[in-house]
Amino acid sequence: MTRIFVLAEHRLQKLRDATWEALEAGRKLAADLGGELNCILLTDNAAGMADELAKECPKVLVVEDPKFETFNSDSAMKALAAILSDKAPFMLVMGNSNSMMDLAPGLAVALDAALATDCFAFEVKDGRPAAFRQMYNYKVNAKVSFKGAEKIVVTLRGGAFPFSSGGGAAGAVEKIASPVADEAPRKRFLNYVEAEKGDVDIASADIIVSLGRGIGDEPDMEIFESLADAMGGVLACSRPIVDKNLLPKYHQVGTSGVEVKPKVYLALGISGAFQHVGGIKGAPLIVAVNKDAKAPIFRVAQYGIVGDLNEVVPALEEKIKDLKG
Ligand SMILES: Cc1cc2nc3c(=O)[nH]c(=O)nc-3n(C[C@H](O)[C@H](O)[C@H](O)COP(=O)(O)OP(=O)(O)OC[C@H]3O[C@@H](n4cnc5c(N)ncnc54)[C@H](O)[C@@H]3O)c2cc1C
Repeated sequence: MTRIFVLAEHRLQKLRDATWEALEAGRKLAADLGGELNCILLTDNAAGMADELAKECPKVLVVEDPKFETFNSDSAMKALAAILSDKAPFMLVMGNSNSMMDLAPGLAVALDAALATDCFAFEVKDGRPAAFRQMYNYKVNAKVSFKGAEKIVVTLRGGAFPFSSGGGAAGAVEKIASPVADEAPRKRFLNYVEAEKGDVDIASADIIVSLGRGIGDEPDMEIFESLADAMGGVLACSRPIVDKNLLPKYHQVGTSGVEVKPKVYLALGISGAFQHVGGIKGAPLIVAVNKDAKAPIFRVAQYGIVGDLNEVVPALEEKIKDLKG
């Protein structure tokens, strides 16, 4: 029976959303594969976090070691390789953050495991798991089978496995001695830089009205603010809007901006460059307005309006206000 291990991701003594999403995916995989579900927490101080996890996971394996005060892929790789060395068959499930992507490929090599990154769904047939991920700038959904692999590492697309609390039995915490030797890791943590924080947090917004270069060089921003207000959403944007100083950097969606997962993403005058689309993979409903019917954004949008946003935006706002009565 394939055991499922979920790697807890945390920062500044707080579990990150990706941990809970990985736990959700792990629960489903454990149910489908009939295997045990374990969570692994590597930290210098498990206080609070281990108990929080144990409320949702049958077993939490905790390694407390000062080396894990901050994330270090080198030390994490050594610890996980040692913990998992005799656990095959297993699947290790983790987020797809920069930290996890710093860890997953090297770990897969160290474990001689199969690896699939940025997975958005899984399927289990005849006791064998397969993963789904996108390829070629999100144009193709690929099904990845693991060809008899007994050790599998997967990272998950943010927002693809929304967590529901209480979906699993409460469990126990088991402390294990740190398997990491006292040698200095090859990587060194320098300092923690807090991202610029603004008046809005687009990463946690449910409704986003996102502006692209199509709004023009000297747009009347009030029109878009008013639409966002009517929709109960917040404003975000593509990179050119930040470059033109129309909105601050923390509003930028994309691979060099913020990854968002709203329930509704309205893209106004955004072409759909892969660096932008990379930030909205977790959005289940994308609506695009663009005057170019061939704009790539329409390939990822569920609904598209081909037209001039200067006409569509006021009409949309009026309709929303009408519907709201
Ligand atoms: C290393 C790197 C990282 C990057 N990171 C990011 C990132 O994080 N986020 C990001 O967004 N970009 C990023 N970019 C930039 C990215 O490649 C694109 O240049 C950018 O996303 C394009 O923004 P846009 O869609 O707003 O503009 P454009 O590509 O110029 O598209 C404008 C669109 O508006 C439409 N339009 C014009 N007028 C109207 C109108 N009146 N009504 C309706 N539609 C109209 C046009 O048809 C066009 O499709 C990055 C680039 C690099 C090289």
